[in-house]
Amino acid sequence: MILILLGAPGAGKGTQAQRLEDAHGLIQLSTGDMLRAAVKAETEVGLKAKEVMNKGQLVSDDIMVGIISERLDQSDCKNGVILDGFPRTEAQAEALDQLLNDKGLSLNAVIEMKTDDAVLVERITGRYTCAKCGAGYHDSFLKPAVEGVCDKCGGTEFTRRSDDKAETVKSRLEAYHNQTAPLLPYYKDKGILKQVDGMAEIDEVTHQIEAVIKQI
Ligand code: AMP
Repeated sequence: MILILLGAPGAGKGTQAQRLEDAHGLIQLSTGDMLRAAVKAETEVGLKAKEVMNKGQLVSDDIMVGIISERLDQSDCKNGVILDGFPRTEAQAEALDQLLNDKGLSLNAVIEMKTDDAVLVERITGRYTCAKCGAGYHDSFLKPAVEGVCDKCGGTEFTRRSDDKAETVKSRLEAYHNQTAPLLPYYKDKGILKQVDGMAEIDEVTHQIEAVIKQI
């Protein structure tokens, strides 16, 4: 199964992708996570991407298609993947079609997580992750059961993304509306676009996504 989660930054793609990974044995391919790892490791890609990411802009299509193409070839992807944060431009969507076609694969569904920009800033600026296992939390909406202790692994160190600052979020939302939202009609025309309410409670969004998957 190959799914795309499509939505603005803060729509909850990462949270839902992690749940799908656990429930269906799919692999979450988050291009944002891959880029952050590359930035941390100071690889060639990381050095190129760092500044662009901190401005809230999009990394070049060539780099992104190269990253995803390499990753899809790895053996753990053979049971299926959830694309989280890719594609983000029409050029990336076309390149993905070609890549999948070459491998004899095809997309099962593109799930749009519909949101309202006004709430996204609060969602994004309040979020943080466990430094040890990457579990996601939020200052207001998703606190660990014991303050300062990760529910999943017991870790006590947490990190916040450098591009989750209010001033950068505005550029990221602009990039979404200008460059990524045109993918909605692209996939609608192919008959594979599904929608869920990204403003609903996390469990309700999961429920709606599961209903989409049942229909595939
Ligand atoms: P994310 O974690 O998905 O919010 O991505 C964080 C940042 O990584 C984005 O704001 C972009 O700068 C970059 N990025 C992630 N995925 C892509 C992509 N498919 N195309 C271009 N830039 C990307």
